[in-house]
Amino acid sequence: MKIAVLIVAAGNASRMGAGFDIPKPYLPLGRQTVLRRSAEAFLNHPDISSVTCVIHPDHEAYYKAAVEGLELDAPVHGGDTRTKSVANGLEALNADFVLIHDAARPFVSAQTISKVIDALKGGEKGVVPCVPVVDSLRKNGEPEDRSAYVAIQTPQGFDLTALKSAYADLEAEEISDDAQVLEASGNHKICEIAGDPRGFKITYEDDYERAKIMVEAKTITVTGQGFDVHRLVAGDHVILGGVKIPHDKKLDGHSDADVALHAITDAVLGAIGEGDIGQHFPPSESKWKGADSSLFLIEALNMLRISGGRLLHIDLTLICEAPKVGPHRDAIRGNIAALAKLPLSRVNIKATTTEKLGFTGRGEGIAAQAIVSVNLLDAESA
Ligand code: MG
Repeated sequence: MKIAVLIVAAGNASRMGAGFDIPKPYLPLGRQTVLRRSAEAFLNHPDISSVTCVIHPDHEAYYKAAVEGLELDAPVHGGDTRTKSVANGLEALNADFVLIHDAARPFVSAQTISKVIDALKGGEKGVVPCVPVVDSLRKNGEPEDRSAYVAIQTPQGFDLTALKSAYADLEAEEISDDAQVLEASGNHKICEIAGDPRGFKITYEDDYERAKIMVEAKTITVTGQGFDVHRLVAGDHVILGGVKIPHDKKLDGHSDADVALHAITDAVLGAIGEGDIGQHFPPSESKWKGADSSLFLIEALNMLRISGGRLLHIDLTLICEAPKVGPHRDAIRGNIAALAKLPLSRVNIKATTTEKLGFTGRGEGIAAQAIVSVNLLDAESA
């Protein structure tokens, strides 16, 4: 008995709102992506013979990165509509049954997969997992009896021959799910089995936030610390925390020598075990000459995000005799909070002198210390 799985990840439209440049199947979810979680749910199920993804032709690079190391069949390119994408995918399959799954449902359970397979083995030609509708319903301004309704999830299971012939006979341009295609062929009834509320689809940004919370439930909080010094030389301003502050000297360095952002960047790298700023942005590379140090912090925060982490808090101490930090504290705090996408309350800026002692006391340089707290996925429960 061969059971093939088709994961549909070919859509290009997004209802996720602004700021989501990465296509939905490839959004990070913990250490993985949405698509990889969906694929692994089926690869880990003992009854599944093969898993094939239907992808958008423009997403090849995302796909390769997302499924690296997984034993998937070669991907199939989707069409202009979901209906065409599934039809393309079905052509590539050779099996008795097919389970068709939305890539955007990464929490599909092994129990749901088993129930769909059991119904197919029992002779059903089309099987859909259903969940009760929990919200009250109204239709055209009138209350509706919600007990008459169920919501349909995936994977939907089919006899492959029956579904292929239903697709071949299909006249409508676009049908929203595969059970309706089988029903449109007029020959088969659909079997409803109990789905699982955790099998929800990531459609809107809120769904994605909920998915991240489900994955990140197993997190640990760690801290990273960073320290940096730059020499003061003749000049007319310094840059601290990305803010230009008039001074009779400037900070000397290969980049813009922003000690504050360098210390924070090092703290972030420390929290995720990624060495230090010099390893990632070597002064030997000319592209960093005069660089805006915001770039270093943004890149370190991207590394944190990709590893499934979340920045919680930054505490920064600037150590210098001059310039006076006080008048610029709010601007520095606001700029760092914006860069780190943190609320102001999670960013603290302290400043101290060293009572005219040492190199900072003599005005030879400025030092900065930073501590950050981050949530990381617990390595034990990856
Ligand atoms: Mg530095």
